[in-house]
Amino acid sequence: MEDSRIIAMRGYDDISWGLLMFSKDPMKKKIPEENVRSIIEHALNAGYAAAEVWLSEHAGESFGEWIRSGKLKIVLNEKTQSPHYALLSIFEEKSERVTLFQDSISRVSAAASESVPELEESEDVSSLILAHEYFHYMEYHKMVGFGGYDMFAVKTIFGMKRTLKLIAYSEIAANAFAKKVCAVNFFPALLDVLLLSTFDKANIDKYELWFKANGFDN
Ligand SMILES: [Zn+2]
Repeated sequence: MEDSRIIAMRGYDDISWGLLMFSKDPMKKKIPEENVRSIIEHALNAGYAAAEVWLSEHAGESFGEWIRSGKLKIVLNEKTQSPHYALLSIFEEKSERVTLFQDSISRVSAAASESVPELEESEDVSSLILAHEYFHYMEYHKMVGFGGYDMFAVKTIFGMKRTLKLIAYSEIAANAFAKKVCAVNFFPALLDVLLLSTFDKANIDKYELWFKANGFDN
């Protein structure tokens, strides 16, 4: 039952997932609705463009092997800090290291075994996560640019103007990058659904309802 729903979800296109990620951003209400789709498309293209560059420079190489050969400091951590807040990984900009939460990764690979066989091995789960985090590393080092499309001027409560970053923009771009360099045919935000489903199957319902309510129904 749960598996068939995950299988349906893995079929949703990048735009659908992008809209889902955008819908979770605290900034979403500040952005005019007619601009949302083009912002998401721009973010997806930014991720894919960066992936094209990586692929052209590393023809025939496995991203997973490449990233583990010292390109990022990778720290393995047994458990997430809080049982109420499940995380797959963290990229710390200052120390430039990625922490992978082993418990979460094992959960994802166990939950994926039938519906997403590409993630059956926890190493494949972590490769996808490392690709996502490597994108943030490139972002931090200004190796990828968003042309200002991730920044929005908003009015503060004092009527002043402030420019804020749309977090969902870089998250969507990072997932597009990971999807392409790891050559998977589903949007990597699916990992979040898999992880949350291991704590409570009702979490799948929440995602399913969102997709249905927004007209993504296959
Ligand atoms: Zn991220």
